[in-house]
Amino acid sequence: MALRHPLQWLELSRSAFRKNIRALSRLAGPKRVMAVSVKANAYGHGLPEIIGFLEAQKEVSYITVHALEEAARSRASGWSGSIMLIGPLPTDQVEAVAALDIEPVIFTRETLRAVGRLSDKLNRRIRTHLKLETGTGRQGITAEELPSFAALYKKYPNLGKPYGAAMHFANIEDTTRHDYAELQLKRFHELLRQMTALGIKPTIRHTASSAAMILFDKTRFELVRPGLSAYGHWSSKETYLSYRLEGGSNDLFCPVLSWRARITQLKKLPANAFIGYGCTYRTTAPARIAVLPVGYADGYPRALSNRGHVLIRGRRAPIRGRICMNLLMVDVSDIKGVRLGDTATLIGRDGDEEVTAEMLADWGGTINYEILARLSPLLPRQVLS
Ligand SMILES: *Cc1c(COP(=O)(O)O)cnc(C)c1O
Repeated sequence: MALRHPLQWLELSRSAFRKNIRALSRLAGPKRVMAVSVKANAYGHGLPEIIGFLEAQKEVSYITVHALEEAARSRASGWSGSIMLIGPLPTDQVEAVAALDIEPVIFTRETLRAVGRLSDKLNRRIRTHLKLETGTGRQGITAEELPSFAALYKKYPNLGKPYGAAMHFANIEDTTRHDYAELQLKRFHELLRQMTALGIKPTIRHTASSAAMILFDKTRFELVRPGLSAYGHWSSKETYLSYRLEGGSNDLFCPVLSWRARITQLKKLPANAFIGYGCTYRTTAPARIAVLPVGYADGYPRALSNRGHVLIRGRRAPIRGRICMNLLMVDVSDIKGVRLGDTATLIGRDGDEEVTAEMLADWGGTINYEILARLSPLLPRQVLS
């Protein structure tokens, strides 16, 4: 049941999402396949809502997910396109690959054997991708391991060759110097040559997350895998800078998500009054305080206690005291006309002011990815046109 007047809610802009996908699609060009990441509840935005947006975007034929649960929810939300599973696939979950029609990215022999057996059992091909280790030190097959993977593929003729070969960059968004990315690309090309020599030449190759695909054409290959940028955010300041230094435009993306809440209580406090747990804030003059029904349980970082601000009536209202599990307090002493029930903006625009996920990340010592990914799945989502 959707409540008509929630205490807080996320607004999702369909037109912003469309704009971002178009921008990415222009970068990718018409020949490349776009695989948009919907992991982490679609980067906190809400999986069913984003699947709804994606179904209307003909440019996007693939989604990537981390876990089978996300694939199942995407299918239940109406996704009819391809699904690439980029996270681990334990052998006891392998049946789901057929049930949900998923393309696994494989990096362990155990998974490859289980998928091979499944393809024998079903007597049909299952599209697979091999993840190659080029220096991220995470999921990936090394040069030494590749021959045994090739041998396994040959044991399961139904499986055919791997459809895709993949890698992931370790240091593409955290720097404006991209020599490590270059090294990884070089290793990727070497591993591709080795795959060909071993008789498992892939049909397509893919390496590009948002930062890679925005910055370097040579990372785009036949398929690109953007995530964060589809939601209207730059992977980092360095990515933005690198792009701008090459003459890229200032308004490539537009944030899809805003976060708002109602003021549920207004109160006057005298001078020398404490606010919140731990008495970490004390007024120096009489103050007017607004209570918002938002806390760290909703994904508002507790690290922002006594830091940062929200927007009320287009003005900044500083956070006072500690963020609680479900509440936070802001100072509205100098904002005229604030009333019970007024809307506060935690992320998004209000008048001439804007609070971004990037600002929250800076204040909290983290990155925009984490701010977005940790938004509670329980927050009501409203789709705007
Ligand atoms: C998350 C992820 C992506 C997308 O990364 P963004 O930086 O959000 O564009 C691409 N590939 C892999 C393997 C990932 O895990």
